[in-house]
Amino acid sequence: MRLIPSLLFVAPLSFPNLGLAQCHGWQQRVEYTMVVRLDTESHLYTGTTGLNYRNNSPDTLKEVFFHLYPNAFRPGSEMDVRSRTILDPDDRVGARIAELTPEQQGHLKVLELRQDGRPAVLVHMGTVLKVSLPKPVLPGRSTTFRFTFEGQVPVQVRRSGRNNAEQVAYSMTQWYPKLAEYDERGWHAYPYVGREFHGVWGDFDVTLDLDSAFTVASTGVLQNPQEIGHGYPTGGKPLKRPMGDRLRWHFAAKNVHDFAWAADRAYIHTTEQVPGGPLLHFFRKDIPELEATWNELPGYMVRSFQFMDRNFGKYPWPQYSFVQGGDGGMEYPMLTLILGNRRLGSLVGLSVHESVHSWYYGVLASNEGRFPWMDEGFTEYASSKVMQELFPRPEDPHAGSINGYLSLVASGKHEPPSIHADHFLTNRGYGSTAYSFGEMFIHQLGGVVGEKVLADGLLRYFDVCKFKHPEPVDFERVMEKQSGVELDWYFDQWINTTRTLDYGIRAVLSVDGELQVELERHGDQLMPVDVMIELEDGSAKHYHIPLSLERGARDPGSESFTFVTLEPWQWTDPTYTFTLPLSVARVEAIVLDPKHRTADVDPENNRVDLPPGAQGFIRP
Ligand SMILES: [Zn+2]
Repeated sequence: MRLIPSLLFVAPLSFPNLGLAQCHGWQQRVEYTMVVRLDTESHLYTGTTGLNYRNNSPDTLKEVFFHLYPNAFRPGSEMDVRSRTILDPDDRVGARIAELTPEQQGHLKVLELRQDGRPAVLVHMGTVLKVSLPKPVLPGRSTTFRFTFEGQVPVQVRRSGRNNAEQVAYSMTQWYPKLAEYDERGWHAYPYVGREFHGVWGDFDVTLDLDSAFTVASTGVLQNPQEIGHGYPTGGKPLKRPMGDRLRWHFAAKNVHDFAWAADRAYIHTTEQVPGGPLLHFFRKDIPELEATWNELPGYMVRSFQFMDRNFGKYPWPQYSFVQGGDGGMEYPMLTLILGNRRLGSLVGLSVHESVHSWYYGVLASNEGRFPWMDEGFTEYASSKVMQELFPRPEDPHAGSINGYLSLVASGKHEPPSIHADHFLTNRGYGSTAYSFGEMFIHQLGGVVGEKVLADGLLRYFDVCKFKHPEPVDFERVMEKQSGVELDWYFDQWINTTRTLDYGIRAVLSVDGELQVELERHGDQLMPVDVMIELEDGSAKHYHIPLSLERGARDPGSESFTFVTLEPWQWTDPTYTFTLPLSVARVEAIVLDPKHRTADVDPENNRVDLPPGAQGFIRP
């Protein structure tokens, strides 16, 4: 085929109206006011909730659903059975729920619920509560639920609970009756099996009443620091501690979709201001082993927030807390719970990952159950960039994601990434898909649209879809508009199938004194192809072969290197041949995917080295 000057393939960059309906057109809305009393002797808690619910959907709602996550921590629960019967059990759970005694179990029950003063019919179904409403909620109308609830904090098995592995007293996550989200796909009241979360945007006003010996770290901003102390900045006002052995901690959080907190008697609490950004809070146990690493953490986290603000969008809340608690690390609005006793690199890496979730879990908040790769994948992608900034290394920061995905494919546990998080057949398949595939999918897209276009597109995606629970198609549309190329084929094939990618070099020939290269597609996945030709003088030339389905090609200015765009590869063709006005004798090597941006399952056939004087090469 003939070489076509790249200018002919400059894709028209379009900048349409950002106000066009994109992401979800409407969002439900909640306003919680909760007063909660925790008895730190019995680990029982009671609460009263006033919950204002605005139905912005076009549908009349005759029932609503709540999550009652603590009920998962009872023998025989869906999480218990799932954890014991999945092919590759998670060691953190295994049979531990089945062995909990009544005093160690969790439970959460709504005692009475009134809708605008009238009692509703409640059906408790494990981790889900169904509420039949006495008065349907019409489109565009609000209603108020008032209810009391009682719960028991379980011994920590997974994420939430009391007495975690590092003796943090309370990790209070997914602990209250939490209204399920409703959208165009209906209700999302998934029974909890230990995986993902999803919630309704809104404002939380929460008062926590507990023993005054405890320090509380929480979602939201403390409203009464001059009463509380405990390391909270009082804005220069003197402390006015009320008498008594209990304290009422009053927190308020705006525009979040969940509310989490932790409490311990031995927390040391420090703060660090991100210039032009949020106030960072740090809560760790007062033990010597943690001192050195946790003293270094704030400096790294300030840089991490600044890097994220510049490159991925502005963090919108006034504060963020790094809290020792939970198991491993887990993200919550304005807060993360992490196991804190680890090497500095691991502490920083985990803290970066969990706080970067604020952008994808916190602000964009794709439905993690339906699209687990969108939360973990974007988070991993951005975290890799942050870690490269904090700890520069020569390797590509995203190489691990390709390796992780390829190892998943080799394991035979690969399932379509579009499967609901709860329904993957193995923990391995779910984990590698959410994290490695997710990051790889975005990294690989950089090769399709160009690195610079991807970076601009990610900022635009954050801006267009923030606080809207975007789905894959929303990201696809943003990247199509940013790049000017069609991406249906990329999203459809990679998200909905387990097909694999393998392009190879079949032949390198001299034809009428010119270099002729034949490429072959061995796998069923489709991609544009990057080719590098290394010449005997040490220089290299880059070529890009777009896929016909793109109806365009990445912009010549979209990469940090120059390249020439060849004619598109018609997607139905198993082979592709191109000719360049180059003598074969000048060619040292031909390399496919030289930047290692594709998840090619067989890189062996991606390179051909020509010995000096060779007249060509044909793969046997
Ligand atoms: Zn994560």
